[in-house]
Amino acid sequence: MKIVMKFGGTSVADIEKIKNVANIIAKQSKTADVAVVVSAMGKTTNALTALAHQITDKPNLRELDALLSTGENTSVALLALALNSIGVPAKSFNAMQLGIITNDNFGDAEIMHINTWGIPYEVIPVITGFQGITEHGDITTLGREGSDTSAVAIAAALCADYCDIYTDVDGVYTADPNVVKDAKKLDFISYDDMLKMANNGAKVLHPHSVSTAQKYNIPIRVRGTFTPNDLGTLVAASKQR
Ligand code: ADP
Ligand code: ASP
Ligand code: MG
Repeated sequence: MKIVMKFGGTSVADIEKIKNVANIIAKQSKTADVAVVVSAMGKTTNALTALAHQITDKPNLRELDALLSTGENTSVALLALALNSIGVPAKSFNAMQLGIITNDNFGDAEIMHINTWGIPYEVIPVITGFQGITEHGDITTLGREGSDTSAVAIAAALCADYCDIYTDVDGVYTADPNVVKDAKKLDFISYDDMLKMANNGAKVLHPHSVSTAQKYNIPIRVRGTFTPNDLGTLVAASKQR
Protein backbone atom coordinates (compact mmCIF):
# COMPACT_ATOMS: atom_id res chain seq x y z
CA MET A 1 0.00 0.00 0.00
CA LYS A 2 1.32 3.41 -1.01
CA ILE A 3 -0.18 6.57 0.51
CA VAL A 4 0.55 10.25 -0.05
CA MET A 5 -0.31 12.18 3.13
CA LYS A 6 -0.92 15.94 2.80
CA PHE A 7 -1.16 18.29 5.78
CA GLY A 8 -2.64 21.78 5.41
CA GLY A 9 -1.53 24.99 7.10
CA THR A 10 -3.72 24.69 10.20
CA SER A 11 -2.37 21.16 10.78
CA VAL A 12 1.22 22.46 11.00
CA ALA A 13 0.51 25.91 12.47
CA ASP A 14 2.96 25.54 15.39
CA ILE A 15 5.63 23.18 16.71
CA GLU A 16 3.19 21.17 18.89
CA LYS A 17 1.02 20.59 15.81
CA ILE A 18 4.05 19.63 13.72
CA LYS A 19 4.95 17.06 16.39
CA ASN A 20 1.38 15.73 16.28
CA VAL A 21 1.64 15.39 12.48
CA ALA A 22 4.97 13.55 12.86
CA ASN A 23 3.26 11.02 15.13
CA ILE A 24 0.45 10.45 12.61
CA ILE A 25 3.03 9.87 9.85
CA ALA A 26 5.11 7.55 12.07
CA LYS A 27 2.02 5.40 12.74
CA GLN A 28 0.92 5.27 9.10
CA SER A 29 4.43 4.42 7.93
CA LYS A 30 4.27 1.13 9.85
CA THR A 31 1.58 -0.19 7.51
CA ALA A 32 2.21 1.66 4.22
CA ASP A 33 4.89 3.32 2.12
CA VAL A 34 4.28 6.99 2.61
CA ALA A 35 5.27 10.26 0.98
CA VAL A 36 4.30 13.49 2.70
CA VAL A 37 3.25 16.87 1.26
CA VAL A 38 3.01 19.94 3.49
CA SER A 39 1.63 23.47 3.30
CA ALA A 40 3.17 26.52 4.93
CA MET A 41 2.60 26.96 8.67
CA GLY A 42 -0.71 28.62 9.58
CA LYS A 43 -1.20 31.95 7.87
CA THR A 44 2.41 32.29 6.66
CA THR A 45 1.44 32.72 2.99
CA ASN A 46 -0.91 35.61 3.89
CA ALA A 47 1.86 37.25 5.92
CA LEU A 48 4.33 36.93 3.02
CA THR A 49 1.78 38.41 0.61
CA ALA A 50 1.26 41.35 2.97
CA LEU A 51 5.03 41.97 3.07
CA ALA A 52 5.17 42.23 -0.72
CA HIS A 53 2.21 44.62 -0.70
CA GLN A 54 4.05 46.88 1.73
CA ILE A 55 6.43 47.51 -1.19
CA THR A 56 4.06 47.66 -4.14
CA ASP A 57 0.40 47.18 -5.01
CA LYS A 58 1.41 45.25 -8.12
CA PRO A 59 4.29 42.93 -7.24
CA ASN A 60 6.17 41.28 -10.10
CA LEU A 61 4.63 37.82 -10.31
CA ARG A 62 7.95 35.98 -10.63
CA GLU A 63 9.26 37.63 -7.47
CA LEU A 64 5.97 37.13 -5.64
CA ASP A 65 6.19 33.38 -6.32
CA ALA A 66 9.83 33.32 -5.17
CA LEU A 67 8.62 34.94 -1.94
CA LEU A 68 5.40 32.97 -1.30
CA SER A 69 7.06 29.62 -1.97
CA THR A 70 9.40 30.12 1.01
CA GLY A 71 6.67 29.29 3.55
CA GLU A 72 6.64 25.65 2.48
CA ASN A 73 10.45 25.39 2.76
CA THR A 74 10.16 26.09 6.49
CA SER A 75 7.40 23.58 7.19
CA VAL A 76 9.01 20.64 5.35
CA ALA A 77 12.32 21.10 7.15
CA LEU A 78 10.64 21.37 10.57
CA LEU A 79 8.49 18.29 9.89
CA ALA A 80 11.53 16.27 8.75
CA LEU A 81 13.30 17.34 11.96
CA ALA A 82 10.26 16.30 14.02
CA LEU A 83 10.17 12.89 12.30
CA ASN A 84 13.90 12.36 12.80
CA SER A 85 13.57 13.29 16.47
CA ILE A 86 11.12 10.42 17.05
CA GLY A 87 13.35 7.96 15.21
CA VAL A 88 11.67 8.06 11.79
CA PRO A 89 14.12 8.62 8.91
CA ALA A 90 12.81 11.48 6.76
CA LYS A 91 14.21 14.02 4.34
CA SER A 92 12.71 17.32 3.17
CA PHE A 93 12.54 18.23 -0.52
CA ASN A 94 11.44 21.39 -2.29
CA ALA A 95 10.15 21.57 -5.85
CA MET A 96 13.55 22.54 -7.18
CA GLN A 97 15.33 19.62 -5.50
CA LEU A 98 12.74 17.15 -6.71
CA GLY A 99 11.96 18.56 -10.13
CA ILE A 100 8.27 19.46 -9.92
CA ILE A 101 8.19 21.03 -13.37
CA THR A 102 5.44 23.56 -14.17
CA ASN A 103 4.62 26.03 -16.91
CA ASP A 104 5.58 29.67 -16.28
CA ASN A 105 2.12 30.91 -15.37
CA PHE A 106 3.35 32.58 -12.17
CA GLY A 107 0.80 32.54 -9.36
CA ASP A 108 -1.33 29.87 -11.02
CA ALA A 109 1.18 27.47 -12.55
CA GLU A 110 0.28 24.02 -13.78
CA ILE A 111 2.35 20.91 -13.11
CA MET A 112 3.67 19.36 -16.32
CA HIS A 113 5.94 16.67 -14.92
CA ILE A 114 7.34 15.30 -11.64
CA ASN A 115 10.74 13.61 -11.52
CA THR A 116 9.75 10.62 -9.41
CA TRP A 117 13.29 9.22 -9.59
CA GLY A 118 14.21 12.00 -7.14
CA ILE A 119 11.82 10.62 -4.53
CA PRO A 120 13.64 8.29 -2.13
CA TYR A 121 12.28 4.98 -0.89
CA GLU A 122 14.61 4.40 2.05
CA VAL A 123 13.49 7.49 3.98
CA ILE A 124 10.15 9.30 4.12
CA PRO A 125 10.14 12.18 1.62
CA VAL A 126 8.58 15.35 3.06
CA ILE A 127 7.77 17.48 0.03
CA THR A 128 6.76 21.14 -0.30
CA GLY A 129 3.23 21.63 -1.56
CA PHE A 130 2.28 24.68 -3.63
CA GLN A 131 5.72 25.05 -5.30
CA GLY A 132 6.96 24.28 -8.76
CA ILE A 133 9.87 25.16 -10.98
CA THR A 134 9.89 26.00 -14.67
CA GLU A 135 12.24 24.30 -17.10
CA HIS A 136 14.24 27.55 -17.03
CA GLY A 137 14.69 27.31 -13.27
CA ASP A 138 12.19 29.95 -12.14
CA ILE A 139 10.21 29.20 -8.98
CA THR A 140 6.43 29.10 -9.43
CA THR A 141 3.39 28.55 -7.23
CA LEU A 142 0.20 26.70 -8.08
CA GLY A 143 -2.20 29.33 -6.71
CA ARG A 144 -3.63 29.68 -3.21
CA GLU A 145 -4.60 26.33 -1.66
CA GLY A 146 -2.47 24.66 -4.33
CA SER A 147 -0.87 22.12 -1.99
CA ASP A 148 -3.92 19.89 -2.43
CA THR A 149 -3.07 19.73 -6.14
CA SER A 150 0.62 19.07 -5.41
CA ALA A 151 -0.37 16.11 -3.24
CA VAL A 152 -2.70 14.57 -5.81
CA ALA A 153 -0.17 15.09 -8.63
CA ILE A 154 2.54 13.41 -6.55
CA ALA A 155 0.12 10.57 -5.71
CA ALA A 156 -0.55 10.12 -9.44
CA ALA A 157 3.15 10.20 -10.29
CA LEU A 158 3.85 7.56 -7.62
CA CYS A 159 0.77 5.46 -8.54
CA ALA A 160 -0.33 5.70 -4.91
CA ASP A 161 -3.37 3.82 -3.61
CA TYR A 162 -4.67 6.88 -1.74
CA CYS A 163 -4.04 10.57 -1.41
CA ASP A 164 -4.96 11.40 2.19
CA ILE A 165 -5.69 15.11 2.65
CA TYR A 166 -5.45 15.84 6.38
CA THR A 167 -7.13 19.06 7.46
CA ASP A 168 -8.82 20.80 10.41
CA VAL A 169 -12.22 19.13 9.83
CA ASP A 170 -12.80 15.37 9.87
CA GLY A 171 -14.17 15.06 6.35
CA VAL A 172 -16.31 16.61 3.65
CA TYR A 173 -19.69 17.85 4.89
CA THR A 174 -22.90 18.73 3.07
CA ALA A 175 -21.94 22.39 3.78
CA ASP A 176 -19.09 24.16 5.58
CA PRO A 177 -19.36 22.70 9.13
CA ASN A 178 -17.80 25.87 10.55
CA VAL A 179 -20.72 27.88 9.16
CA VAL A 180 -23.71 25.52 8.94
CA LYS A 181 -24.29 23.89 12.33
CA ASP A 182 -26.39 20.93 11.11
CA ALA A 183 -24.15 20.08 8.13
CA LYS A 184 -23.75 16.30 7.78
CA LYS A 185 -20.49 14.48 7.25
CA LEU A 186 -20.31 12.35 4.10
CA ASP A 187 -18.63 8.91 4.01
CA PHE A 188 -18.36 9.12 0.24
CA ILE A 189 -18.65 11.73 -2.48
CA SER A 190 -18.04 11.25 -6.22
CA TYR A 191 -15.41 13.28 -8.08
CA ASP A 192 -18.18 15.04 -10.02
CA ASP A 193 -20.11 16.12 -6.92
CA MET A 194 -16.90 17.11 -5.10
CA LEU A 195 -15.82 19.17 -8.09
CA LYS A 196 -19.15 21.03 -8.03
CA MET A 197 -18.76 21.68 -4.31
CA ALA A 198 -15.15 22.86 -4.72
CA ASN A 199 -16.06 25.13 -7.62
CA ASN A 200 -18.80 26.61 -5.42
CA GLY A 201 -16.14 27.59 -2.90
CA ALA A 202 -15.91 24.64 -0.47
CA LYS A 203 -12.35 25.32 0.60
CA VAL A 204 -11.72 21.81 1.88
CA LEU A 205 -10.31 20.68 -1.51
CA HIS A 206 -8.90 22.90 -4.25
CA PRO A 207 -10.94 22.31 -7.47
CA HIS A 208 -7.84 21.51 -9.49
CA SER A 209 -6.88 18.77 -7.03
CA VAL A 210 -10.25 17.10 -7.59
CA SER A 211 -10.02 17.25 -11.39
CA THR A 212 -6.46 15.91 -11.24
CA ALA A 213 -7.60 13.03 -9.00
CA GLN A 214 -10.43 12.25 -11.41
CA LYS A 215 -8.11 12.35 -14.41
CA TYR A 216 -5.66 9.86 -12.86
CA ASN A 217 -8.28 7.96 -10.84
CA ILE A 218 -6.59 8.61 -7.48
CA PRO A 219 -8.94 8.08 -4.50
CA ILE A 220 -8.73 11.01 -2.06
CA ARG A 221 -9.56 10.61 1.62
CA VAL A 222 -10.28 13.89 3.41
CA ARG A 223 -9.28 13.21 7.02
CA GLY A 224 -8.99 15.14 10.27
CA THR A 225 -5.49 15.83 11.61
CA PHE A 226 -7.04 15.97 15.06
CA THR A 227 -9.09 12.75 14.54
CA PRO A 228 -6.49 10.62 12.71
CA ASN A 229 -8.14 7.25 13.45
CA ASP A 230 -11.21 8.20 11.43
CA LEU A 231 -11.01 7.39 7.70
CA GLY A 232 -12.87 10.61 6.86
CA THR A 233 -14.57 11.06 3.49
CA LEU A 234 -13.67 9.06 0.41
CA VAL A 235 -13.66 11.09 -2.83
CA ALA A 236 -13.55 8.66 -5.74
CA ALA A 237 -15.32 7.47 -8.88
CA SER A 238 -17.34 4.96 -6.86
CA LYS A 239 -17.78 3.84 -3.28
CA GLN A 240 -15.05 1.22 -3.02
CA ARG A 241 -14.04 1.21 0.64
P1 ADP B 1 -6.07 23.35 5.02
O1 ADP B 1 -5.35 24.43 5.79
O2 ADP B 1 -5.92 22.00 5.65
O3 ADP B 1 -5.77 23.36 3.54
P2 ADP B 1 -8.60 24.65 4.45
O4 ADP B 1 -8.90 25.80 5.36
O5 ADP B 1 -8.11 24.95 3.08
O6 ADP B 1 -7.63 23.67 5.22
O7 ADP B 1 -9.89 23.72 4.29
C1 ADP B 1 -10.58 23.26 5.42
C2 ADP B 1 -11.80 24.14 5.68
O8 ADP B 1 -12.71 23.99 4.61
C3 ADP B 1 -12.58 23.76 6.90
O9 ADP B 1 -12.06 24.33 8.07
C4 ADP B 1 -13.99 24.24 6.56
O10 ADP B 1 -14.30 25.46 7.23
C5 ADP B 1 -13.94 24.51 5.06
N1 ADP B 1 -15.05 23.90 4.33
C6 ADP B 1 -15.82 24.57 3.41
N2 ADP B 1 -16.76 23.77 2.91
C7 ADP B 1 -16.61 22.55 3.48
C8 ADP B 1 -17.29 21.30 3.37
N3 ADP B 1 -18.33 21.14 2.55
N4 ADP B 1 -16.86 20.25 4.12
C9 ADP B 1 -15.81 20.39 4.95
N5 ADP B 1 -15.13 21.55 5.11
C10 ADP B 1 -15.51 22.63 4.38
N1 ASP C 1 0.48 27.85 1.52
C1 ASP C 1 -0.37 28.03 0.36
C2 ASP C 1 -1.60 28.85 0.73
O1 ASP C 1 -1.73 29.26 1.87
C3 ASP C 1 -0.75 26.74 -0.30
C4 ASP C 1 -1.63 25.82 0.50
O2 ASP C 1 -1.74 25.99 1.72
O3 ASP C 1 -2.20 24.90 -0.08
O4 ASP C 1 -2.40 29.12 -0.13
MG1 MG D 1 -6.62 24.10 1.87
